[in-house]
Amino acid sequence: MYTVTDSSRISRRSFIQTTTSLAAAALWASRSQGAALSRPKFWDYPFKLGVASGDPTPDGVVLWTRLAPRPLEGGGLPDAPIDVGWQVAEDEAMTRIVRSGTQTAVPQWAHSVHVEVDGLAPDRWYFYQFKAGSEVSQVGRTRTAPAAEATPDKLRLAFASCQHWESGYYTGYEHMLGEDVDLVLHLGDYIYEGPAKESKVRSHVGGKLDSLTGYRHRHAQYKTDPALQAMHAAAPWLVTWDDHEFENNYAGGISEHTDADPAAFLAQRARAYQSYYEHMPLRRSALPTGPDMLLYRNCRFGQLVDFYVLDTRQYRDDQACGDKLTVDCHDAEDPNRSILGGTQRDWLFDGLKRSQSQWNVLAQQVLMAKIGRRMEDGRTGYGMDVWNGYGADRDRVLKFLHEQHVSNPVVLTGDIHSHWANDLLLDGDDFASPVVASEFVCTGLSSTGDGRVEDYAPLYSEFPNVKYHARKSGYVACEVTPTEWKTWYREMDYVTRPGAPLLTPAKFVVPAGSAKLERA
Ligand code: FE
Ligand code: CA
Repeated sequence: MYTVTDSSRISRRSFIQTTTSLAAAALWASRSQGAALSRPKFWDYPFKLGVASGDPTPDGVVLWTRLAPRPLEGGGLPDAPIDVGWQVAEDEAMTRIVRSGTQTAVPQWAHSVHVEVDGLAPDRWYFYQFKAGSEVSQVGRTRTAPAAEATPDKLRLAFASCQHWESGYYTGYEHMLGEDVDLVLHLGDYIYEGPAKESKVRSHVGGKLDSLTGYRHRHAQYKTDPALQAMHAAAPWLVTWDDHEFENNYAGGISEHTDADPAAFLAQRARAYQSYYEHMPLRRSALPTGPDMLLYRNCRFGQLVDFYVLDTRQYRDDQACGDKLTVDCHDAEDPNRSILGGTQRDWLFDGLKRSQSQWNVLAQQVLMAKIGRRMEDGRTGYGMDVWNGYGADRDRVLKFLHEQHVSNPVVLTGDIHSHWANDLLLDGDDFASPVVASEFVCTGLSSTGDGRVEDYAPLYSEFPNVKYHARKSGYVACEVTPTEWKTWYREMDYVTRPGAPLLTPAKFVVPAGSAKLERA
C-alpha cells in the first residue's frame, strides 16, 4: 500500500496568503524542463474526483482518475505533465500487489489518467490505488470478466441514466452500493449542459456549457458527489453518452436549434467529447479526435452475456418531423434514415451473428419499443427523438434479432426519465406479432425528481406490450444466469432530500428461450 504522508500538503491558509502564480512557482520550482513532474507537491488533495474503472476484459480493466486539487477552479494544477503511479492488488489492504506502473497525466487532457491494465486473472475482484507525489487516492475495487470460453453461473448488474445534479440527490447510488453488482452500466445524461437554475435542490456551477473549461467544471462538479464516487469505486462501469453530455436532442452534427452554425456546433461537440473522455474510465480506442469519438463497443462476460454498447447520437440522421410528439410522420419510416448509422449497424449485426453468448444485450440510450403518448386532442403522438423517429432502423434490428435467431436478446435503455418494461414486438403495430426481445428502461437516477403517480391503466390498454411503467427516480438491477434474466425496478419516493428508502414495486423474469416478460 502506498504510504500516506501529509507533510507535503500545503494548507489552504498558506495558499490563500500568496497568489496563485507565486504559489505555483514555489511549488513547482524543482521541476526539470520538459520532463514530467514525478515529485509534485499539491496545495490541496489532488484525488477529489475519486477513482473509477471500466470496460473489463478477461485479463484487464481500465483504471481512471484525474488530478484536480481545485476541481471547480480549472483543476488547480500547473501547465505541466505529472507522473501518477498506480497499483493493482489482490486484497483491499493493497499488500499483494500484482501489477503496477506509472502514467503521465498531461494538462492537455486535464491531468486525467486512463490505465489499461492487462495481465490479470479472469473472473476475479481486484483493488487499485493511485499515487501522485506523496498523495494517494482512495482504494477502488474492480473486477475482470470471465474467460471467453467460460460459462459463468451468474452476473449481477445495475444500470442508470439521467442524473441531473439540480433535480435531486444521488440516493440511488447509495442503494446501488448494496446490490453487490459485478458491473454498472450508465446509459447517458451523465451530466446536463444547462446553466445554474434558482430554487433547485442543488445548483450547477457556471452557465450553459460551451467552453472546454465549462464542460470540465460540470463533469468535475458531478464527480464530487460522494455516492457517485463510491459507486465508481465499487465496481467497473460500462458507460455511453446520450444527448445532455453535449446538447439536448442533438443528432450527429445537428443542433436542435435550427439557427446553430454547423461548424461551430461540431467544434463544441469536440469540447464536450474531450471532457467526457477525460472524466470516464474509457479505453484509448475511445480517445476523441476532434468532434469524433468511437464509443460503440463490445464487452463479454464469458459465454453468459455479450454487451453491445451503442451510440445512438453521433451517427443518427436529424429527427424526423421535428423533435416532438408527432402523429403520422411519414419521414420517420424513410429507409434512408438511420439512428445507428450504417457502419455501427454492420458492426452490431456482425457481432451478433458471431456471438456464442446465452444473452445478447444492446445497452443503448433511447426507447426502442413503439410506444406513443396520448396528446391533449386525444390522438396518440410518437416521440421523434427515440427509435420511433427511425422506424426503418428499428425494423432492421428487430427483424435481424428474429430472423437470425440471436440468442436471448435484451435491450437496456435510458433517457426517458421513467421506468418501462416492454416486450419488443417484431411488428410494433401488431400486438399479436412475435415478441423478439425484452426492453428494460431505467428511469432517471435523479432527473425524474420526486416523480409522480398516475393512473397507467389507459397506457397499458393502448399498449399491451408495456408491462410496467413508473415515474419515480431510481435505477434497475438485474441478475443474469444461464436459465433466466431477473430484473428489479428500484425506485425512491423522493430525491429532493436525502435518505429515501429503496422501493422495489416491480420484478420481472425472462426465462432463457422466451423473450416474454413475466411478472415475478
Ligand atoms: Fe435525461
Ligand atoms: Ca437524453
